[in-house]
Amino acid sequence: MIKKMSVSEIYVHNNEVRKQHSEQTALTQKNIDKIRRIALKKILYPEYKEAYEFVDNLFPEIKVKNVVVHKVMAKDLEKMGFRGVEGFYDPVTKIVVISGVHKSMYRGDPFYKVEAKVDKDEVIVHELCHYCYVAMGHRSISSEMREEFAYGYSIGYLRQKGYSDEYIIKYNFLPYLMSIFNEKATKKIFAQNGITIPQYHAYSNYKKKECNRMYRKKIFILSKEMAMKRGHELISLYSAKLEEGGYKESENNNEYGRYGMLDL
Ligand SMILES: [Zn+2]
Repeated sequence: MIKKMSVSEIYVHNNEVRKQHSEQTALTQKNIDKIRRIALKKILYPEYKEAYEFVDNLFPEIKVKNVVVHKVMAKDLEKMGFRGVEGFYDPVTKIVVISGVHKSMYRGDPFYKVEAKVDKDEVIVHELCHYCYVAMGHRSISSEMREEFAYGYSIGYLRQKGYSDEYIIKYNFLPYLMSIFNEKATKKIFAQNGITIPQYHAYSNYKKKECNRMYRKKIFILSKEMAMKRGHELISLYSAKLEEGGYKESENNNEYGRYGMLDL
């Protein structure tokens, strides 16, 4: 999934809501039927030729040029619970969806603005990478691993478009990475100030709000720092993979070797 806005802004501490968000890729059959019915258009190769060809070169055995991308109006996706989402891939039904034009959503303090700048072709590359990941037999339940794969392999395409690594991190990776590191940063800042998570949860709503207000800036700055660092790590990790000529079957083994326990 690729989102326009970081969720970190909105859900600083609400684990429940964050969980719901991450599980929204589980589509109901009803929604899938609806997406097929109401799609503004169905995109097929050779439209977005460069995007399809980039992914096809990386994973030639998947035949990604046969994949149809459904373009759906942003407001219709929002009704299905995909607010601010630029695109997603549903591994069960194998449907690839991208959103039509979004209205700018951010109304808050510009200091906290973390907005992706992603063109449709870039969203298509990202979602097609997800498609390939599943088609190659990966079954990771870790959304972090799935996302890193899609963001990571996209860098070759983004560089091809002339973007610098800094630009890629800031406008393509950061909204996603911020949402990942927000929780870690929150825990760290709270701990530094003598607040444990159970203590926080026991606070009254008023006290929670006070606490959020008090530490918001520190948490934001720290999660941005952590996200930038991870962004640079992803750039070097995937640059090396791309230099080696893209995906290698051995990655599969490494992945299960390294993360197998997490997949249980
Ligand atoms: Zn994704």
